Amino acid sequence: MAKIVVIGGSFGGLTAAFELKRLLGERAGVTVLGDDERFVFLPSLPWLIMGHRRAEDITLNVPEILKPKGISFIREAATGVDPEKSKVLTASGEIPYDYLVISTGPYLAFEEIPGLGPERGHTSCTFTLGHAVNTKMAWEKILEDPGPVVVGSAQGVSCFGPSYELAYEMHNELKRRKLRHKVPIFYITSEPYLGHMGVGGLGNSKRFFEDTFAEREIKPLVSQAIEEVAPGEVRLRGGAKILFKFAMIAPPFKGVPAVTPLGNPRGFIPVDRNFRHTKHQNIFVVGVAMAIAPPEPTPVPTGVPKTGFMTVKMARTAAATISAEIKGENIPSAWELSVTCLMDMGNTAALMKAVPVLPPRQESITKEGMRYRYLKAAFERYFLWKMRHGLSSLP
Ligand SMILES: Cc1cc2nc3c(=O)[nH]c(=O)nc-3n(C[C@H](O)[C@H](O)[C@H](O)COP(=O)(O)OP(=O)(O)OC[C@H]3O[C@@H](n4cnc5c(N)ncnc54)[C@H](O)[C@@H]3O)c2cc1C
Repeated sequence: MAKIVVIGGSFGGLTAAFELKRLLGERAGVTVLGDDERFVFLPSLPWLIMGHRRAEDITLNVPEILKPKGISFIREAATGVDPEKSKVLTASGEIPYDYLVISTGPYLAFEEIPGLGPERGHTSCTFTLGHAVNTKMAWEKILEDPGPVVVGSAQGVSCFGPSYELAYEMHNELKRRKLRHKVPIFYITSEPYLGHMGVGGLGNSKRFFEDTFAEREIKPLVSQAIEEVAPGEVRLRGGAKILFKFAMIAPPFKGVPAVTPLGNPRGFIPVDRNFRHTKHQNIFVVGVAMAIAPPEPTPVPTGVPKTGFMTVKMARTAAATISAEIKGENIPSAWELSVTCLMDMGNTAALMKAVPVLPPRQESITKEGMRYRYLKAAFERYFLWKMRHGLSSLP
């Protein structure tokens, strides 16, 4: 029986584990090692901040959903990987593997910008459930005592969507409460232009974001690096200072420390087209943890997003590849990285799609429509249902 260890119990890790078990059955013992027992549907965190969701609406218990499928769960953090001995290291010992799947997501590097972040700094964040719960409280204070808001993404971010969503959602909520005239909204981003998204834009995304921001009087500052954040003040490289009462800024992304030795200088891990480590043949890496080179240099560093949609596809490709290898079958052909994203805009939404994810492309669109908002809510329900039942093979 092949021993397969999966690090990370989220979009990539759970999909890979379910899919490996489905494809290999008794031929594989699959163990998920996770430092969190909860699966959180991260795309709904902006809705949690705005008060449209509670934590329990978007959270699943990982051991409970793995058990019926015969997948073990170890609640512990990996502290390292020894690829030569095929072992995962933890504080309590070593876990040997025949195959390893890494899906550890991002390390949020707040410390790279002095004063950034909710713990040791002066800004809110939306990337974890804990952050989002605190950000909700900070946002509610603005509704009680309005003042300038800054939303955006620092240098080195590779997930821009949530900041855009929050800018639109905050605008909409303030307007609904007749408070918008008391709250200037600034949008600071490392992207070279609005709608770049780390992928050189999608269709007419530049014009789309410029127009929809202008209509809402959201003031953009593009191609910005943040030097530091002081209480109530974002200091940009170049000298400009933006005052705020509430700031929600996405931090630079890196790979998590336990796996960074396998990766590039930022800790993202290089893989081939089947998501196999370029050096270690029995290690696969999916989701945010893997490395994708940016499509073009940008004046301020930006990263390529690895969305939930992409992560799930990567995990399925990695699982199919491992399964084929164990069964002695032909290795499946690689999946061409593409992206489909539904972005909430408060009172409407947008569909963004790029095939493949980096230009030049076959297809690339950004378009607005209320139906995408309904679709986003429906997809959230569907995805949680699918994960609760371990149905990784469904789209
Ligand atoms: C606010 C927000 C909104 C988003 N909106 C969308 C959207 O609308 N559409 C979309 O497609 N994508 C969206 N995304 C992106 C999507 O959530 C990510 O692509 C997806 O979460 C990546 O999955 P992952 O498995 O790579 O990493 P993650 O989901 O980050 O999971 C990593 C897991 O690894 C665990 N872990 C980390 N280190 C260790 C360790 N050392 N040992 C053990 N376990 C460890 C973590 O606890 C976590 O459970 C959004 C993300 C955020 C944060």
